[in-house]
Amino acid sequence: MIRSFEQGPIRPPSEARSLLVRVIRNCTWNRCTFCSVYKGSTSSLRSVDEVIADVDAMAQTAALVADAGAGVPAGGVAALRSGDVPPEAYQVALFVGDGARNVFLQDADPCAVAPAKLAAIIGHIRQRFPTVERVTTYGRAATLARRTPAQLKGLADAGLTRVHLGLESGSDEVLAAVCKGCTAAQLVTGGTRVVEAGMELCFYVMPGLGGRGLATAHVRGTAAVLRAVASHAPAGRPLVVRLRTTAIVPGTPLAVCADAGEFDLPDDVEVAREVRDLLVALGDARLDLRSDHALNLLAELQGSLPADGGRLLALLDEFLELDADERAQFALGSRLGVYCTLADRRDEQRRALLRSHVPDVARASAAELLEAAKQIRARFL
Ligand code: SF4
Repeated sequence: MIRSFEQGPIRPPSEARSLLVRVIRNCTWNRCTFCSVYKGSTSSLRSVDEVIADVDAMAQTAALVADAGAGVPAGGVAALRSGDVPPEAYQVALFVGDGARNVFLQDADPCAVAPAKLAAIIGHIRQRFPTVERVTTYGRAATLARRTPAQLKGLADAGLTRVHLGLESGSDEVLAAVCKGCTAAQLVTGGTRVVEAGMELCFYVMPGLGGRGLATAHVRGTAAVLRAVASHAPAGRPLVVRLRTTAIVPGTPLAVCADAGEFDLPDDVEVAREVRDLLVALGDARLDLRSDHALNLLAELQGSLPADGGRLLALLDEFLELDADERAQFALGSRLGVYCTLADRRDEQRRALLRSHVPDVARASAAELLEAAKQIRARFL
């Protein structure tokens, strides 16, 4: 029986088939008001030997899975049934089935590990899995801004290829309000150093995070940080920006603020206006925009800026210029999974499905429908 290995609780959607290597446990900060992932846990370091033993166990598991039939489901299920591999082998089977190409370092702040130690771990991963093309990690801006350019270059040279960084907002006011533990200046410094070290950078932006009160500051500050960092990314490796529309997760400090009337979550129409304002404020910034999460209203809001800017603005305008009832019905239908794209609202079968889910949809006011859509948002987390 191959020994068990640790896996953290989350990874970005784009890492669903990656080998997950836990180099540090939980979150070193753990105070962001909107985040529920690590609440109630404390962060702890893992020794290099411990992580390397995990990597070795994963390599043994990968060999068994491959022998049993290359990947998921056949190889993974067969290896699990044999009892020779631990339950975590399922993720290894996904990795093998995907060609053993991608590795993701966990948990929230792997760059808090001393750079030489992290480089040794990455080097060992590369040695045990020579087919790996991409090694990626989550990063915190405050941690990355403390790293010198030479230290980040050392990680890139060891084989780290991409950093996923939760920007959330580029406004200092919003960052302070949600207790993000970093400043806009640190976001610019950390982000710029990552791209200048030769790595890909993916920023996560949370439309709606300023609430209704700080929406303008949120847009202005976020555009400023994105523009500053994007200008340092080389043409062949543009900054990637992923949208994660804000939801209020029950049990979080943000939920307590909302209950106390201190945070007012924008509805889907207000969020769409905010995203439109952000696109305009980005101007000629060069970046790839992705909308790859169910929290976002418009999944088709994707493209390379500035080339696709006009198309994306037209898409937002198409939604914003619908009459208020139609707009609200689309928002609710989208939240219920009836509509996937704006064009779906013209599909009579889908409209009938929405009426079957919400018999009152034609009688309810736009405000009531938008409120219902907003309440459903947190379910996606
Ligand atoms: S830094 Fe990331 S993981 Fe940690 S509390 Fe904030 S959002 Fe959550």
